[in-house]
Amino acid sequence: MKPLNPDFASLGTTIFTTMSALAVEHGAINLGQGFPDEDGPADIIAKAADALSTGPNQYPPMAGLPALRQAVAAHDRRFYGLDYDWQDEILVTSGATEALAACLMALLAPGDEVVLFEPLYDSYLPIIRQCGATPRIVRLEAPGWDIPESSLAEAFSPATKLVLINSPMNPTGKLFAAGAIEVIARHARAHDAYLVCDEVYEHLVFDGRRHQPIAALPEMRARTLRIGSAGKSFSLTGWKVGYVSGPRELVSAVARVHQFLTFTTPPGLQAAVAYALAKDDGYYSGLAASLEAKRDRLAAGLRQVGFTVLPAEGTYFLTALTDGIGPALDSDVDYARWLTTEAGVAVIPCSAFYAGDNPPRNMIRFCFCKKNEVLDAAIARLAAALGSGPSP
Ligand code: PMP
Ligand code: GLN
Repeated sequence: MKPLNPDFASLGTTIFTTMSALAVEHGAINLGQGFPDEDGPADIIAKAADALSTGPNQYPPMAGLPALRQAVAAHDRRFYGLDYDWQDEILVTSGATEALAACLMALLAPGDEVVLFEPLYDSYLPIIRQCGATPRIVRLEAPGWDIPESSLAEAFSPATKLVLINSPMNPTGKLFAAGAIEVIARHARAHDAYLVCDEVYEHLVFDGRRHQPIAALPEMRARTLRIGSAGKSFSLTGWKVGYVSGPRELVSAVARVHQFLTFTTPPGLQAAVAYALAKDDGYYSGLAASLEAKRDRLAAGLRQVGFTVLPAEGTYFLTALTDGIGPALDSDVDYARWLTTEAGVAVIPCSAFYAGDNPPRNMIRFCFCKKNEVLDAAIARLAAALGSGPSP
């Protein structure tokens, strides 16, 4: 038999699926894979149900329902002052995962280089490699996860085609501040590089901070594709409705890929997301406030158990260091498996977000978008297994 595609055949199953399966097998509380355990607003779900009943249920327009493209354009204007024409500068995709693949495939050709930051989300590298492009990875270090200017400058070359950046960032919870994104923008301009911005956690930002898209910086709109996800903004991760905003020259190239990846996204879900995006400011600030409280609740519990918890400015995730707590195991993968099978709490080993040599072996990721009682039960289990915990 001839060999299969080497970029994909060599991969294992994603760490999120693996740890969720282990959690089910061992009856563990799943703080691994990032999904809320309560669905988003009932009125959004009712809109989808209505749309499914009344139809149409046939192929919607390839670029997305006009109502949803108009809603994404209105959202980008309302939150960021970004002006996109809904008719040809917005594209609806089947989740941010498809948007990422379509953006990378639209822009990259063999020999191109991509600057990106480690730790990195697991779907990026297989697609970059499949395009024949070379990743140039800039490693960020805990606890600040700041971008080291000298390694950033070294990562750029005349072959740099694009920069891929995720802010707020999974798994670190880092929100890149104005100064950092200006530096990236300056390098991108100097090297005539595009930007693909994975902004799926744009509304999950805490402590009064605001997410600022690179596309809103001077001269950056023309070279930037911005990706959002209804799954994250409305706590409906299974819906897989994503969107790309950008200048028409780029968005039309992304649409050429999209038409052969998925072509369209279920119209009933699109109609409901169009409705959802117009929710008032109270919805968006309430979502962030509720997640901020959950972050604080889990962080306090983990600290009481004895973990060193790193700061998280956004996302669904907290990272913690395992040094000096629990069994001395060789790796974070063993540690995460041990927590799942012996303590009954599933987590994600952070080395899964590293491609280079020597990933940290002492860091695990906890997902906090869970009911308070679930977070509390997880802390109680950890305390029982690790021998410390909340005082009576
Ligand atoms: N990017 C990042 C950083 C993510 O954490 C996720 C989570 N699923 C995605 C993209 C994919 O989003 P979607 O579920 O909309 O495909
Ligand atoms: N983005 C989610 C996470 O980081 C997982 C999505 C998936 O399972 N592919 O946990």
